[in-house]
Amino acid sequence: MSVPFRGNYLGGRFIRPKKGNELISEDPGDLFDPVGRMVVSEEAVDVAVAAALKAFPKWSGLSLPQRIGKMKAFRREMVRRQSALAILVAREAGKPITESNREVDRLIAKVEETIVAGLKLVRPFSVEVDRGVKGECVWRPLGVLAVIGPFNFPAHTPASHLVPALLLGNTVVFKPSEFTPFVGQMIAECFDAAGFPPGVFNLVQGGASVGVRLVAHHGVAGILFTGSTAAGQAIKKATLDSQKLLALEMGGKNAAIVLEDASLDLAAREIAQSAFSMAGQRCNATSRVILNRRIAKPFLDQFLPLVERVRIGYPLEPEVLMGPLISHDAVAKLQKYVKLAEEEGFEMIRPGKATGLWGKRRGYYATPSVHLCERPEKNHSAHYRKEEIFGPNVAVYLVKDEEQAVALNNEVPYGLITSVFTRNPARFRKLFPKIDTGMVNLNRGTIFSSGKLPFGGTKASGSFRPAGLFSPYYCAYPVAVLQDSRPLADRRLPF
Ligand code: NAD
Repeated sequence: MSVPFRGNYLGGRFIRPKKGNELISEDPGDLFDPVGRMVVSEEAVDVAVAAALKAFPKWSGLSLPQRIGKMKAFRREMVRRQSALAILVAREAGKPITESNREVDRLIAKVEETIVAGLKLVRPFSVEVDRGVKGECVWRPLGVLAVIGPFNFPAHTPASHLVPALLLGNTVVFKPSEFTPFVGQMIAECFDAAGFPPGVFNLVQGGASVGVRLVAHHGVAGILFTGSTAAGQAIKKATLDSQKLLALEMGGKNAAIVLEDASLDLAAREIAQSAFSMAGQRCNATSRVILNRRIAKPFLDQFLPLVERVRIGYPLEPEVLMGPLISHDAVAKLQKYVKLAEEEGFEMIRPGKATGLWGKRRGYYATPSVHLCERPEKNHSAHYRKEEIFGPNVAVYLVKDEEQAVALNNEVPYGLITSVFTRNPARFRKLFPKIDTGMVNLNRGTIFSSGKLPFGGTKASGSFRPAGLFSPYYCAYPVAVLQDSRPLADRRLPF
């Protein structure tokens, strides 16, 4: 069933572009039934930024409790549309419905988490600098913030920027992924129904060219981006001659390190889920398993049968773990890397295949694949080994000790998350300071994270401005205010 297009959301109204390019939102799990169609135009960016600039003084001048009141109304509108939004996420992103429901739950939780815990991080404080000299730290909003979202978490990742940005007094222009525009439209409907003042929240639809125009716009003070490292780097280059704040959440090439004393049953289950849920299309998916060679056979004896049991299917069917990939290009990319793996000396121990059909549905389906590297001390330059694939493929590397495991973990250009499996917490505590990722999990797969903690990576995974609990830090800036009330006679001055 097709979803009607309402338009961009500009200055408090849905407005359809009079002319522009057609954007078709496919259902990647059922290509015979597109989600909807729309017309997109780059010019809408200018209207959106102008509306956001106009709304900024009044919105930032409201008290925090007033803005919290509006955000709670937004939350209520989300709750009202909860299941409709989850279905849209499942259809547009190809994400299994259980995961889609979880994503919407997390979005709703984000409002409360930010109000209760996140805002505490940016609380003003006073301090006595000297006798008679009072110091204060206050936080100010930046202005108009551009929020650019990815396809794979089309509701939750934009919300983790939008919610703190608006609470702290910024106004926003949100551009969803071109693969998930109707999820973006429903988020706009929630802001509209919640009665946000015109121009505080704006939505522009379109692909990369709309994003390019938005980030370059002189009225934009900061860019809160979640997506690939290539697009994040392009944004960095496009903003080099400005002072725009960049909070970039980018790609990953995450590893699970399995030490020889680990529970192999637990490790195999956690890794299979982290590698293949959502067809490996998560920034925090496990794409590398770093395994002590002494436990290679018992681990693989447990792991490979689980890979066989991964339930693939249409995202709205129950108990599906893995839906389709997002696009034809995503399937082609997966196939390119599988071919490269073989050319670069990896052994395929569980072949996968791309298939345009699953049951009666035509879509971008692929089955999981596993490669093995017995001698990781060779082959350092392999592309397959270093680059993000974003598909249902995992490489298993056999290592002799912890030192080699950590070196292998740290060798990739990314630094998002690492899992360590061991029964010995003391061993974990010794190991984890050597791991160079922004997040480290003990005995949990890489896909597990909490909104009560920061979320973000090092190196090509981020710009050292983690989201999650820490998002408020990049939605406001601190101003130091020093007030000296001592009389002139009490001051020591050189002249
Ligand atoms: P993508 O980079 O292709 O697109 C993301 C967004 O950026 C889209 O809205 C797109 O239109 C826009 N865009 C693309 N080029 C742009 C440019 N030059 N200027 C401005 N905007 C531009 O990413 P995707 O395929 O939608 O998402 C998958 C990627 O996102 C993966 O690399 C994944 O690891 C990453 N991701 C990271 C996190 C995280 O928190 N670190 C979370 C989810 C996804």
